[in-house]
Amino acid sequence: MALKGIHHITAITGDAPGNVDFYVRVLGLRMVKKTVNFDVPDVYHLYFANEAGSPGSILTFFEYPGAARGRHGAGMIHTIQWGVAGREALDFWESRLAKEGFHTSRTGDRLRLEDPEGLGIELLIDPEGEPPLAASWNEVPAEFALRGFSGVRVYGGVATARERELAAAGHQIIDSDHVLTKTLGFERVPDRPTAYRLTGGVRRATYAYDEPPAERGYQGAGSVHHIAWACDPEDQPGWRQTVAEGHLNPTPIIDRQYFYSVYFREPSGVLFEIATIGPGFAIDEPLDRLGEALQLPPQHESRRPQLEKRLTPVTNPRTSRPAPRS
Ligand code: ZN
Repeated sequence: MALKGIHHITAITGDAPGNVDFYVRVLGLRMVKKTVNFDVPDVYHLYFANEAGSPGSILTFFEYPGAARGRHGAGMIHTIQWGVAGREALDFWESRLAKEGFHTSRTGDRLRLEDPEGLGIELLIDPEGEPPLAASWNEVPAEFALRGFSGVRVYGGVATARERELAAAGHQIIDSDHVLTKTLGFERVPDRPTAYRLTGGVRRATYAYDEPPAERGYQGAGSVHHIAWACDPEDQPGWRQTVAEGHLNPTPIIDRQYFYSVYFREPSGVLFEIATIGPGFAIDEPLDRLGEALQLPPQHESRRPQLEKRLTPVTNPRTSRPAPRS
């Protein structure tokens, strides 16, 4: 039983049209699902990914229209990393993003920027992880496309001073290091004392801590809400049990239509989810039409007329016309 890398990352936007424009038109991802937050169905849940909507490439957003910006702080993911093929890909993105009015900074193997609402993004030269989990979009040459997630950066400490004291005194401490390595099967990254990785997926995934800023963080537009790790469907009950035995208080297994999910918090405060690799996004619309029409799960289908009136209309740059309403 091993986690298979990142399944998806979910963040918050206050501006669905701007969000779709940035991730689909500028970054070249494919919108693979337009649905609602199943727990709060009057807000969007938008999914961006590679062509097939594969785990390892899926970034999703809840839209709270007009939401104020959040602030990245301790216990929050502040940066999402995508792999690109090489130096020429970084050149391409540096120039494309500058033309789009984004400030970027380039150091060594990476290009850093913020999305329009302040979410940190890094494009990293990462030749591993074949085949790439790329979308195809006519403004981005295939060899430069984003190839799926490489990892995330988190504000948090592995253990507090008090926890280290207790550990030194021989107490078993349930800190992030313990949860990541003992409960969830991450490896420590050699020579990087606060970085961990999963190697069982299509793409290797890194989960790395940075020293948090002094100011407290809070959720809002541009904040990451949670990260989901992928598992084989038959392993999910076992994962839930393992997480419960690790004193992490998991939710029951929840049906998310496109996958099944269990949630819990890792000790630094980041909300984790373990999500099944199937059934996937073609369960309620054909693969070649993913993301064009609003899809609702059976429990919310009766509210479709109100929801269609209430949700912000978004234009899918792929279809160059307002997305059909149903
Ligand atoms: Zn999720």
